Amino acid sequence: MKLRVDYLVVGTGPAGLLHNINLRNRGKEVLNVGTNLYGQLRPQKIDRINRSINLLPIFPVVDSGLWHSMNLGSASYKTLSLKKVNHNGFHSNVNYSKNSYTEYLFEKKKKYKIPYILSYKQFGNLIFDHSLSELKQKLNRNYRSGQPKHIKTGFKNGLSPYYNFLMSQEPYSVAREAVRNIDIEKKAVTTDKSTIEFNKLIFTLPLTKIFEFTNIQQNFDIICGDAKFYTYYSRKKLYSNHLYYDCNIDTNIYRLFIPQENIVVVQLARNSWNIEPNGIGKEAANLMNLEHSLQHVHTNSYRKCYPLDVTDSNEKERLIAGLEKKDVYLSGRFGRWKYIDLHEVDYEVHKN
Ligand SMILES: Cc1cc2nc3c(=O)[nH]c(=O)nc-3n(C[C@H](O)[C@H](O)[C@H](O)COP(=O)(O)OP(=O)(O)OC[C@H]3O[C@@H](n4cnc5c(N)ncnc54)[C@H](O)[C@@H]3O)c2cc1C
Repeated sequence: MKLRVDYLVVGTGPAGLLHNINLRNRGKEVLNVGTNLYGQLRPQKIDRINRSINLLPIFPVVDSGLWHSMNLGSASYKTLSLKKVNHNGFHSNVNYSKNSYTEYLFEKKKKYKIPYILSYKQFGNLIFDHSLSELKQKLNRNYRSGQPKHIKTGFKNGLSPYYNFLMSQEPYSVAREAVRNIDIEKKAVTTDKSTIEFNKLIFTLPLTKIFEFTNIQQNFDIICGDAKFYTYYSRKKLYSNHLYYDCNIDTNIYRLFIPQENIVVVQLARNSWNIEPNGIGKEAANLMNLEHSLQHVHTNSYRKCYPLDVTDSNEKERLIAGLEKKDVYLSGRFGRWKYIDLHEVDYEVHKN
C-alpha cells in the first residue's frame, strides 16, 4: 500500500502524540507511524489491582508551557510530594577522572553532596569516568529553576497527567506498523506493510534507529544509562502521590513512588540490580515506616533510557542540521538524544 501525508511522525510515545495534537490543532495533515501506542512508559496492567497504571509520574521539574496548554483543570490533580530521606553515608574519597561528571559536581557545584549521591545511585560508576554533558546541562537547568519542592502533578487513578491528557485526545491518526527503512532523498518511509511518502518527517525513536533505517554512518558513540524497577502490592492502603528519594549512598533503593494507594514502585540503585525483590521490598517498607510487608508483583528494566552524552557533539549537531535541510527533524529525549523531560520537547521544530 502507498500513502502520502504532509507531516509524518515516526514514533507513538508521548512526544510523537503531542506533535500529532499540535499539528492537527494547526489544521495540518499528520500521521504517526509505529507500534506500542503511548510508548515505553505506557500504562501497565497490574493484575493484583485489576487495572492499568503508569509506573512513573513523568513530572515536570520546571514550570512548563506544555502543562499550562493541557488545560486539565488543576483541581483534578493532587500535589506530588517529594521527600528526600536518609541523609547519611556519604563517601568523598572516590577516584574520578579529569572533566568527569564527579569532578564537575565536586568542584563546580557548592551543594554537591545530594546531587552526587543521587547521580551515583542513578547512574553508577559512569559518573567517575565520563563527562556526561547532557546530565550537566539538565542539572544546570534544574538549579536555575530552583527545583520546586512541591510539583503541580501526581497520579490520578494511577495515571500521570500527561497520559490522562493523551488518552483524552484519542483517536489519533496512526499507522500501527513497524518502520523498516527511511529514504531521505525520496522522502519515503517503508514499514512492514506499506510505503508512506512525506513532506516533513519528525523522528522521535531513539537516535540510533536513524542509522539503522537510513544509510547515514554513525560517527560518534552514545553514552546512556539504564533503569530497573520492582513493583510491589501493599495490602494496606498507602497515601498515594508520594515520591521518596533515598539519599544514603549505601542503600539499594534510588527512589520510590506510590502511584496508586496499593502500589509501590521502587527504582533500584544502579549497582544493586542483582538484589532479590524480597530484600528490596523489606528496605522499601523500612524507608516508609510500614509495619506490614510488600508483595513483589512486577520487574521492569529499561535499557538506554537516559541519554547522558555523545563522544563527538559537533558530529551530532552536524547530523541534526544536515537532516533538517532535508525536512527531517529529530525530536524528543530519544530522537535528539538529549536529556530532556517531556515538557522540554520543542513542539515547534517543524514551524517552516
Ligand atoms: C526510568 C525513566 C524515568 C523517566 N522520568 C521522566 C520524568 O520524570 N519526566 C519526564 O518528563 N520524562 C521522564 N522520562 C522520559 C519519558 O520517557 C519521556 O518524557 C516520555 O516518555 C518521552 O516520550 P517519547 O515519545 O519521546 O519517548 P518514548 O515513548 O519512550 O519513545 C518514543 C518512541 O520510540 C519507541 N521506542 C522507544 N525505545 C525504543 C527502542 N529501544 N526500540 C524501538 N523503539 C523504541 C517507542 O515505542 C515510542 O514509539 C523517564 C523515562 C524513563 C525510562
